[in-house]
Amino acid sequence: MDQFDLLVVGSGPAGRRGAIQAAKLGKKVLVIEQGKRVGGVSVHTGTIPSKTLRETALNLSGWRERGFYGRAYRVKQEISAEDLRRRLLITLDHEVEVLEHQFARNRVQHIRGRASFIDPRTMQVVKDDGEIVNVSAASILLAVGTKPFRPDYMPFDGKTVLDSDELLEIEQLPRSMVVIGAGVIGIEYATIFSALDTQVTLIDPKSTMLDFIDKEIVEDFIYQLRDRNMKLLLGQKADKVVRQDGKVELTLDNGRRIVTDMVLFAAGRMGATDTLNLPAAGLEADGRGRLSVNPETFATSVPHIFAAGDVVGFPSLASTSMEQGRIAARVAVGAIAKEPPKYFPYGIYAVPEISTCGLSEEEVKERHIPYECGIARFRETSRGHIMGLDTGLLKLIFSLKTRRLLGVHIVGEGATELVHIGQAVLNLKGTVEYFVENTFNYPTLAEAYKIAGLDAWNRMGDIKSEL
Ligand SMILES: Cc1cc2nc3c(=O)[nH]c(=O)nc-3n(C[C@H](O)[C@H](O)[C@H](O)COP(=O)(O)OP(=O)(O)OC[C@H]3O[C@@H](n4cnc5c(N)ncnc54)[C@H](O)[C@@H]3O)c2cc1C
Repeated sequence: MDQFDLLVVGSGPAGRRGAIQAAKLGKKVLVIEQGKRVGGVSVHTGTIPSKTLRETALNLSGWRERGFYGRAYRVKQEISAEDLRRRLLITLDHEVEVLEHQFARNRVQHIRGRASFIDPRTMQVVKDDGEIVNVSAASILLAVGTKPFRPDYMPFDGKTVLDSDELLEIEQLPRSMVVIGAGVIGIEYATIFSALDTQVTLIDPKSTMLDFIDKEIVEDFIYQLRDRNMKLLLGQKADKVVRQDGKVELTLDNGRRIVTDMVLFAAGRMGATDTLNLPAAGLEADGRGRLSVNPETFATSVPHIFAAGDVVGFPSLASTSMEQGRIAARVAVGAIAKEPPKYFPYGIYAVPEISTCGLSEEEVKERHIPYECGIARFRETSRGHIMGLDTGLLKLIFSLKTRRLLGVHIVGEGATELVHIGQAVLNLKGTVEYFVENTFNYPTLAEAYKIAGLDAWNRMGDIKSEL
């Protein structure tokens, strides 16, 4: 039986980053991955495929040009599922290649198979051909991620009723589509297909959506979705879903009936811990298959077993999973692990994008912090004119007492890139003066920071000397 310093189960963002970190510290590391290729949900069914699909949809539909040439403008008249898949396969190949190279360069060993505990330090790996290998290590990092929640009442068939993994395999684009679940994944796919001119209906039992995002941004976003004829049925639930003659019929709790070409069920994911034989390690998952950990070290209740990434729950992002994996691996091999900066960005790659970092206006009010907001619309920037943008909003929130930036919230083109300027100012404790006094490239969308900064500064007054 082989002995390692660190065993990593899962090669998604948390596992990959953890494995490479431990290897860079000179440790002997083995990654166990049950998937055909390394990369995890992030590379194969989640982050990268959905973002590639989005990019293809926006490019082929001519979405970004419609401000100039009208809503009927198309780059390609008939967009097929094959068009979408082609770019996806090329992108995924590149991602896997880079990852395999990183493993090779850092001498991280990896083995394909399903891992489960035999005892707290030993795991059994069942390979595809049935061969069983036992491996053991001083420390173990569980980075097994999640899989789509598939309730029994949904008649999944992989063609007309699908989960978000199966959506990537569709053979033709639906003319109409119902998305159940107005969480981040549901919203992203609903808006991507809407950009492809599929008639999309988004249903969620909750009467609000994206509650963790600043309300003004969500309102602007919802307005844009309705403006392009997406149906939002919030506070409504699909009681019955039946497949019939190649279509799907949904009956909602208010009696409403919807017939559609395709249903995407995107309401929740479960931690992929069911096959790990956790009791053999002295561990137990919660009702959603998730593991609880110390939020600073990512150690589970068994001190040498760590867990990171989506399997530990919120925020369940590839970006945060990577950092968690890195910290867990450092602690596991006895290296110092610094706590990450307080504020991290949240990116929602819907059409339009939303990105946010720091406190929302609602949170600032809850904490009774005196504040002022600055707003800029992309149509006020020269770059926005050049790009034909008539939407896009950037909102900055400042403390009236310290003049520090408390939150940055953006909806519109490039939001997920633009947010990092605000993130840097936030974590470096910058004030409104940063935006007023610094020169920004012109013409850029980043100029919106200057406009929003000035907007707030004009109302806050120049009281810098009092600081
Ligand atoms: C549709 C979609 C879109 C997303 N978009 C974004 C986005 O835009 N930005 C963002 O930051 N995040 C996004 N995410 C979230 C992101 O994909 C996850 O946060 C990230 O993949 C979690 O990484 P992880 O390392 O925890 O695990 P995962 O990426 O889930 O990988 C876990 C790996 O463990 C393997 N595994 C599980 N059990 C075993 C076992 N017993 N033995 C061996 N191997 C095992 C699995 O096969 C899998 O490869 C998206 C997710 C989805 C589903």
